[in-house]
Amino acid sequence: MEKLKIAIQKSGRLSENSLKLLEECGIKINNSTGVLKSTARNFPMELLFLRDDDIPQYVEQQVADIGILGENGVLESEKDVAIVEQLGFAGCRLSLAIPNREEYSGPTYFNNKKIATSYPAILSKFLRENNVTATIEKISGSVEIAPGIGLADGICDIVSSGSTLLSNGLKEVETIMKSQAVIIKNKNLSAGKEAILEKLLFRIKAVKGATENKYILLNAPEKAVKKICDLLPGMKSPTITPLVEQGWVSIHSVIREDDFWERIDKLRAAGAEGILVIPIEKMIS
Ligand code: ATP
Ligand code: MG
Repeated sequence: MEKLKIAIQKSGRLSENSLKLLEECGIKINNSTGVLKSTARNFPMELLFLRDDDIPQYVEQQVADIGILGENGVLESEKDVAIVEQLGFAGCRLSLAIPNREEYSGPTYFNNKKIATSYPAILSKFLRENNVTATIEKISGSVEIAPGIGLADGICDIVSSGSTLLSNGLKEVETIMKSQAVIIKNKNLSAGKEAILEKLLFRIKAVKGATENKYILLNAPEKAVKKICDLLPGMKSPTITPLVEQGWVSIHSVIREDDFWERIDKLRAAGAEGILVIPIEKMIS
């Protein structure tokens, strides 16, 4: 039987979450520590452990069928692969930063300046689009020290909390792109491999749905039901069951994690009591 070959990062910021995602999809992987190749025990999948920068190329050439890496890496590689799903982890942004003491006047600040980066392709596209002429110094790591040692005037690098910039006396002045981990695929997969990928994506969506949503149960007076239901746009519509106490019902629904607290406040204001919020293991919509 055909197997889907997936490339994931060998070690780094994406590795752990990539493996965790597969695990949450119920895929059991044979020993994956310290090896370059492994297989899944209960899913038609083979795993390749690679440097993240190499993944787009391997997927384009179909050494791997699909891969997991940051959108930033996909864009920078300029390979002909398709992004099929955003995975919601490894969130970060690619930004331009300059020394704190400098005054920033907009992208033209970088005219005739030197910028150090590991992302020359994305950066040169940004500069072109903003009609800026700057010199790009391509370096492969520790970009943030470049201004301090006189290698460049500014940098273009991955930022998440901003603490690395801060500790190197830099300030973020432009965000070029936002990024998160994605699945990419080769554009000419066989029908059999597409079918395995569909199965995997179905499971990934169920896992993502579960982490992004919570199950909510609450009690409410019957007269508040309309108002409360308007605040609960669940999967379909809320379930309402009567309580033994006259005039009261229990309402069950699903709410999104991201506007969770705000919604809880509104529900309480509308008369909800005894609110229980429960994590969801998997969510199939
Ligand atoms: P490799 O050795 O595989 O080439 P690397 O050093 O290039 O690894 P990592 O630092 O592990 O890469 O980062 C991999 C990806 O994780 C980045 O391309 C980016 O998408 C994301 N990432 C990087 N830094 C952060 C961060 N601080 N927070 C969240 N995501 C990040
Ligand atoms: Mg890398």
